[in-house]
Amino acid sequence: MSLNIDQIRGLFPVLHQEVHGKPLIYFDNAATTQKPQSVLDALSNYYGRDNSNIHRGAHALADRATQYYEETREAVREFVGAKEAAEIIFTKGTTESINLVAQTFGRKFIGKDDEIVISTMEHHSNIVPWQMLCEEKGAVLKIIPINDAGEIHFGEFEKLLSPKTKLVSIVHASNALGTINPVRKVIDAAHAVGARVLLDGAQSTSHLEINVQDLDCDFLAFSAHKLYGPTGLGVLYGKREILEAMPPFLGGGEMIKEVTFEKTTYNEIPFKFEAGTPNIADVIAFKSALDFIKQYGKPAIKAHEDALLAHANETMKPIRGFIPVGTAEEKVSVLSFNINGMHSFDVGQMLDAKGIAVRTGHHCTQPLMKRFGIEGTVRASFAVYNTKSEVDKMAEGLAQIARFKNK
Ligand code: PMP
Repeated sequence: MSLNIDQIRGLFPVLHQEVHGKPLIYFDNAATTQKPQSVLDALSNYYGRDNSNIHRGAHALADRATQYYEETREAVREFVGAKEAAEIIFTKGTTESINLVAQTFGRKFIGKDDEIVISTMEHHSNIVPWQMLCEEKGAVLKIIPINDAGEIHFGEFEKLLSPKTKLVSIVHASNALGTINPVRKVIDAAHAVGARVLLDGAQSTSHLEINVQDLDCDFLAFSAHKLYGPTGLGVLYGKREILEAMPPFLGGGEMIKEVTFEKTTYNEIPFKFEAGTPNIADVIAFKSALDFIKQYGKPAIKAHEDALLAHANETMKPIRGFIPVGTAEEKVSVLSFNINGMHSFDVGQMLDAKGIAVRTGHHCTQPLMKRFGIEGTVRASFAVYNTKSEVDKMAEGLAQIARFKNK
């Protein structure tokens, strides 16, 4: 199916504005995507019509809010192909989902001299929680090296695996390079030594079809705000038997079965991991974002984004001083680059003056930048509502910027 991008753009109010007197070109989608009107309406309808606390209510509004909240959980289950909705936990975001696993699974099942394997291209949120755990437990963090294209060395990864490996935690698609990792192979190899696998799906879930049962991953973490949904909301998928074996994360209301001063028993999953009043409004609105993606289908969305990436590669290549960073075979629609002799931040500011929003800097992947011997990159990342003519405008703008510097 080929998409009607003009019609899709019409659904996103934020896109129709000028920045510095120029029409906005929003290429910062890997940081966060824009939200369709249906998501904004869902938020306003919730607060204007249904606002109440969920799960314990004895009145119509609470019943309605609970129903909508749980309908989103079911929609997320379908979105990732989980066996049951109880395996879907709502968190604040990818970061909190990974920390939840580190603080519960990690604290219980990872001990002294055990090993955790991550890759060179991880986001800080998939590095720091493991470093904190390793420090506490005396466990060891092992790093999968990458090649110059920004792909993991699979053979080196296999060499890192041993019966000591308790967890492999790896990004599905890199936010800084766009690389899609061969996660199916990673999961099989990790399982062969008895390790569990966490996938950081922050960047993959908006582009790639994902079925956690086919992949057989043990955990999947992602954020709603990168999926055309609200900020402050994330998901942790986990296999039932593992979630059940894990201790709770935060203690408080909702996550308990019975509390006495002597002893507390905990609620069933997923509620065991959702202490306190959750982010009800954003959970409910997230369903509209998932419906938006479902309406067009990820294969059609990805085909459009792939075409934009291919076009961007072609139009940028001739620009004098253009240095692509991350040239993997398999990529999501992320174009990371530098202009010879220029700081990425300066390039970003010059593009901003032309109304073009990109990200610059280390993209929360400092060890990856170090691997490439650079401080940062300029990153343009595409979403379903971007167009070839926007890519052309960026190429024109960059050509001007690069000519100015690389005379
Ligand atoms: N992992 C990756 C690959 C990401 O791109 C991001 C967001 N930039 C995160 C983790 C963290 O997501 P959040 O800030 O939504 O928790």
